[in-house]
Amino acid sequence: MIIILKNGAKAESVRDLEENLKAQGVSVNHIEGVNQNIIGLVGDTSAIDVENLLAQDCVENIRRVQEPYKKANRKFHPDDTVIPVRNTVIGNGSLQIIAGPCSVESEEQIITTAIACKEAGATMLRGGAFKPRTSPYSFQGLGAEGIRLLIKARAETGLPIVTEIMDSADIDLFADVDVIQVGARNMQNFRLLKMLGQCDKPILLKRGLSSTMEELLMSAEYIMAEGNMNVILCERGIRTFETMTRNTLDISAVPLLKQKSHLPVCVDPSHATGLFSLIEPMSLAAVAAGTDALEIEVHNDPKSALSDGGQQLTPVKFAEMMEKVKGLAAYMGRTIGK
Ligand code: PEP
Ligand code: MN
Repeated sequence: MIIILKNGAKAESVRDLEENLKAQGVSVNHIEGVNQNIIGLVGDTSAIDVENLLAQDCVENIRRVQEPYKKANRKFHPDDTVIPVRNTVIGNGSLQIIAGPCSVESEEQIITTAIACKEAGATMLRGGAFKPRTSPYSFQGLGAEGIRLLIKARAETGLPIVTEIMDSADIDLFADVDVIQVGARNMQNFRLLKMLGQCDKPILLKRGLSSTMEELLMSAEYIMAEGNMNVILCERGIRTFETMTRNTLDISAVPLLKQKSHLPVCVDPSHATGLFSLIEPMSLAAVAAGTDALEIEVHNDPKSALSDGGQQLTPVKFAEMMEKVKGLAAYMGRTIGK
């Protein structure tokens, strides 16, 4: 971190500032320039409060040189993190396909869809039991019953299950879930993140609607700082001025997050685009960009879905898409699943 001092800053204030910084465990290098004096800080600056520094009389500006996330940072953990999920792993170079409906609606719906997804080559099953809906009048999910049905679908197909938590008070209901999803709307629910940091389940952390990649990494840091290193970063589109798609899929996030972090990356083209006709091309683009996983909404009958009907693939369309994904993965030397 570099602190740029004001011209004419009082020597006494600068001395006080330097003493204060040393007390925070960093070493302080005072550099006298021709036009400007600066202080270079060496050491772990992640806990230093930039706002407090800016409030000091003698400080003109601050530049961070190091990223504020440490545990998620590839610089301090060069090897890819490989996360065990039940009978498989994510992040070892293989491609995981998480497929299933937006919401778990009934036993017949989830079992039929899970079987079709498995037959087409999916390696994990998704399904929302607790649904974050924009309107309080929309279907809110089956709750605990939804999780029970997912467990039944897992018993039927062998697919590990992925489902979203919205409230830390529900954590006990997730005891038999394989991957806990944190939705875009909760990416900065810091109490929820801290609580998930204390459990040992893999966490699929979705990027917030208007969040930067650094904010996503800082949210991963919240989970990791509590001890849970098993975080999967999920790009699911960000809000832009474009109205033809639900969000804008930020494909550049895939290689960039993988450069900045050792954590596996997942892409959700369904919520990113909101349009079933874009799922196949965006999935192929995400695989080409190096994603570790895809999360795709598939419904046995999208036109009667209780949520997100317009973006869910029919099992037939999903199977057609999977043939192309398999071809691209093979071309890239990647296996589907373990
Ligand atoms: C979901 O995956 O069901 C979901 C609600 O996604 P997001 O949080 O990305 O909107
Ligand atoms: Mn959905």
